[in-house]
Amino acid sequence: MDIQYLSGVGPKRAELLRKELGIATFHDLLYYFPFRHIDRSTIHHINEISGDMPYIQLRGRFINFTTAGEGARRRLMALFTDGTGTIEVVWFNRVRYIQDTYRPGVEYLLFGKPSPFQNHYSIIHPEIDVYKPETVPQGLQGVYSLTEKLHNRQFTQRTMQKLVGNLLNTPVVQNVPETLPRQLLAQRNLMPLSQALLNMHRPTSVHDLQRAQFRMKYEELFFLQLNILKYIKGREERRVGFVFSRVGDYFNNFYNHVLAFPLTGAQKRVIREMRHDMGSGRQMNRLLQGDVGSGKTIVAFMTALIALDNGYQACIMAPTEILATQHLESISQMAAPIGVNVALLTGSTRKKERERIHEQLQSGELKILIGTHALIEDTVQFRNLGLAVIDEQHRFGVAQRAKLWRKNTTPPHVLVMTATPIPRTLAMTVYGDLDVSVIDELPPGRKPVTTLMRYEKDREQMYRFVGQQLRLGRQAYIVYPLIEESEKLDLRALEEGYEIVKDTFPSYNVAMVHGRMKPAEKDHQMDLFVSHQAHILVATTVIEVGVNVPNASVMVIENAERFGLSQLHQLRGRVGRGADQSYCILMTKYDLTHDTRHRLEVMTQTNDGFRVAEEDMHLRGPGDMDGTQQSGVAFNLRVANLAQDGQIVQLTRDDAEAYLQQDPDLTTPEGKQLDQQLRQIFDKQQSWSEIS
Ligand code: ADP
Ligand code: MG
Repeated sequence: MDIQYLSGVGPKRAELLRKELGIATFHDLLYYFPFRHIDRSTIHHINEISGDMPYIQLRGRFINFTTAGEGARRRLMALFTDGTGTIEVVWFNRVRYIQDTYRPGVEYLLFGKPSPFQNHYSIIHPEIDVYKPETVPQGLQGVYSLTEKLHNRQFTQRTMQKLVGNLLNTPVVQNVPETLPRQLLAQRNLMPLSQALLNMHRPTSVHDLQRAQFRMKYEELFFLQLNILKYIKGREERRVGFVFSRVGDYFNNFYNHVLAFPLTGAQKRVIREMRHDMGSGRQMNRLLQGDVGSGKTIVAFMTALIALDNGYQACIMAPTEILATQHLESISQMAAPIGVNVALLTGSTRKKERERIHEQLQSGELKILIGTHALIEDTVQFRNLGLAVIDEQHRFGVAQRAKLWRKNTTPPHVLVMTATPIPRTLAMTVYGDLDVSVIDELPPGRKPVTTLMRYEKDREQMYRFVGQQLRLGRQAYIVYPLIEESEKLDLRALEEGYEIVKDTFPSYNVAMVHGRMKPAEKDHQMDLFVSHQAHILVATTVIEVGVNVPNASVMVIENAERFGLSQLHQLRGRVGRGADQSYCILMTKYDLTHDTRHRLEVMTQTNDGFRVAEEDMHLRGPGDMDGTQQSGVAFNLRVANLAQDGQIVQLTRDDAEAYLQQDPDLTTPEGKQLDQQLRQIFDKQQSWSEIS
């Protein structure tokens, strides 16, 4: 029903609700949940106020009102007492209205957040009611997110609470039909929907609130998982893949005669998983997660050899030219001894070379093509592409992935590799359409990187330390943040930093790379560092992914507080690749907020990429995580939080699986209802399931 017909709304407020909060119907308001609740059944005493308190309620009288300041700075102040002490109350606007409305001597109920100011506490813009015993609200009250504009139109929390109260008094809530199977309600002891909705807004106790929230999260995640599982099932039925039934000479020769070290257990396991996929007759769609340095490249190469052994070609796509070039180098080294042809195709490949590549691709002479986005151009035609490896997938949009698929009538097997580990519960949901393999073991002999936090005042000491490492023959990275919004300033900081570093280390060579350079110049600078002609590389995050210079032992990150955790972890992964002890130094300004300090401390405490990712997700929420933006899943969850509700994700996954066992095609009456519900929820969203 149109929201304007709710008692207390009317056409004007309806328009406001629709525009500001997207609430157009009774149902919309019912599902507009508070973002927190406050306990208004307790009245505090002024002499109990201490430290940093949440919103509290006080009961007492105003002693006096005074105004101060001029013009825009004009404010009204009042002294308020409850007999145990006094507190200052301050208003910055609506001064006249307040003066006319509230009187000294009358008993009021004040609700607000006390903040310490100089030597006393004050409350700014509290909510005020005349005190009558019956005005003390019972139980918990919801706090809703409202907009500035609503506030300006005198549409306050209280207005919202009243409207919700009116709504909860209509039969609308009682009449909400249950959406979950009865059997699950019983099995998981879930609150029925209408009761849960009521308790989301106005719980009588914290316990009821928690049960209501659990129920709502469960429902949301259950449908999400059901949808994913249904999709996977559909995909498995649909997607025929090449059958790579054998492991042949390429693979065996490499394994027995070229590979210089034993594979780690994790590498072996992952290769086995992929062999199984590629032999199954269905298209492989696998995400390979492995921390930086865990040895994904070899795994990708050996997987490609299986494709070759079965008469197919393979391609490896990297997000940047630098990375593609590095892949070419390390892969040619492995490929040459077994007589496998490899070529590189990027945006800057010359026409002649390009033509040669096209020809050899078509004839099948070229077995492995490495490159950047250039690989997905329509002109690139393989004779028979059997495997596409995509490195560092978060740089690639899903649509681009899909383009690779279309190079064949039968889609190639796909291996997506990422060094940004995503916690399992998230991977399960975000990449619900990909199978996940994890390399959770580093090659032996790696020393964990020592990570330190240092402040501006320690700069001299930091340079001395870098100097020591250089004298030992090592190399160092110094990384600066660069974001688009402050690009000019950031570039200037980088260039100034470069000059300072040159002055500080006059007897060493310093190279510099950033994304605004011409590719040729960038490559040249990069080469200087890779070939050890330069000892220090001053750079932006263009070096974040994949660059491999084992001799580098120091990573200094300037303004570390401006980087995300996953990014810091990636950067740190550039060192610790050789046998020497390596160091990562996080330079920050002195006055960090609590959260920032905590974030950076995570880095000093662990080298484990999964823990870093886990923390990152808690701090930032999954929507912001690297790797999720482009995954295509709309993260418009209303109540559940993938970062915090991992257990419920797992629970609903299990329950959805069990449900589909009983009713695989959702054809029972109850199943049909669920299917309808699924469509309602997911048809509105972009159909990400089509893409991968
Ligand atoms: P990433 O997973 O970050 O892509 P790489 O594939 O670049 O890691 O591997 C990092 C380094 O470790 C490379 O120099 C590679 O040759 C080496 N490496 C890979 N696997 C092993 C192993 N099992 N034993 C020893 N060294 C290995
Ligand atoms: Mg790599």
